[in-house]
Amino acid sequence: MKDPECIFCKIAGGEIPSTTLYEDEDFRVIFDISPASFGHALILPKEHYANVYELGDNEASKLFVVAKKVAAAIKEETGCDGLNILQNNGEIAGQTIFHFHTHIIPRYKGDSATI
Ligand code: 5GP
Ligand code: ZN
Repeated sequence: MKDPECIFCKIAGGEIPSTTLYEDEDFRVIFDISPASFGHALILPKEHYANVYELGDNEASKLFVVAKKVAAAIKEETGCDGLNILQNNGEIAGQTIFHFHTHIIPRYKGDSATI
């Protein structure tokens, strides 16, 4: 199900154009509009799930394979010194967009990236 009000549904579905680092039938990977560091990317399922509790089993089982690929590509492209993979659920946990997504955040020596 898509949510007609959801910006990440529109981006993941291609209705709003975005620079796409990776795409398959289930996911689109884009750059964060307000990056915590150079190369900060977001993995979006194409279906609308508000959070990890709703995430479909199909996407859940494939997500880390995509995260691995994207992390390796970003490490290669940016030459980052480290990398965080994280995902927020609920306002208290820092979630601001209520369409499930996973952050890939490259880290550089001396940085202070926070999200
Ligand atoms: P959250 O805080 O929900 O875990 O992460 C939401 C992320 O989405 C934030 O890092 C924010 O900068 C990013 N974001 C919000 N709106 C847009 C948008 O329209 N396009 C892109 N590419 N990123 C967005
Ligand atoms: Zn959505």
